Amino acid sequence: MSENGSASCPKYKRVVLKISGEGFVHPGERGIAMDAVLHIAKQTFQAAKHGVQIAIVMGGGNILRGAQFTSGNTGIHEATAHYMGMLATIMNGLALQDALESLGCDTRLMTAIRTDGVAEPYIRRRARRHLEKGRIVILAAGTGSPFVTTDTAAAQRALELDANILLKATRVDGVFSDDPEKNPHAVLYGDLTYEEVRRQNLRVMDHEAITKCMEYELPILVFNFRKEGNIESAVFGQRVGTLIHGSK
Ligand code: UDP
Repeated sequence: MSENGSASCPKYKRVVLKISGEGFVHPGERGIAMDAVLHIAKQTFQAAKHGVQIAIVMGGGNILRGAQFTSGNTGIHEATAHYMGMLATIMNGLALQDALESLGCDTRLMTAIRTDGVAEPYIRRRARRHLEKGRIVILAAGTGSPFVTTDTAAAQRALELDANILLKATRVDGVFSDDPEKNPHAVLYGDLTYEEVRRQNLRVMDHEAITKCMEYELPILVFNFRKEGNIESAVFGQRVGTLIHGSK
């Protein structure tokens, strides 16, 4: 039995967990708050103990997003700003790696931009091997290319690593009809099809990421990382948050 009382076998063999940078900071702040990082590390480790293979795609929005430099004459090329965003995800990846290892967890940090000396380069076959050996693999620097976000990287990695599901950890309970932080009447959806997400223009992930998942029928679970035990519940296939899939 898991700590949350579910059956002993996780539903998924391999998952990609997308963690936004906002998970690493207290609301309204920027930078890295190690207590927040440790909170996520503990929850992830709890889920990994059941034998599920976990690859984490790390965001960087707590430090920098390329898009923040796009308006006005900032004196910085947009591509450069996106590379800065990718480097931010590596800083987060290093923090998460140490947090996980402080709990006794075996990890590897792999980056899509070479950072020899601090992390391994991302090589698909090697990442799979690490996962098979039970290591939590942290994937940083997104896709390695500018003008997209780590949501697209998460969809991409989930597909190439044959993950059974993409788990998107956010600060709200799932996908709502409107922004729940602004509209108290916003309705939380239990499940949605990819088409509904696209048609209603629901802000779940980038258009590109949703399209990729839809094309390959990769399910996405959007859930709240702040709630204790949610990552574990998610790998057991329990209905936390909103499930996005092909047909109802
Ligand atoms: N980024 C990029 N290419 C990628 C992934 C990320 O250029 O493949 C840049 C982009 O500027 C993005 C930033 O890195 O805004 C940080 O990632 P993201 O905004 O996805 O972080 P999150 O919102 O998940 O914290």
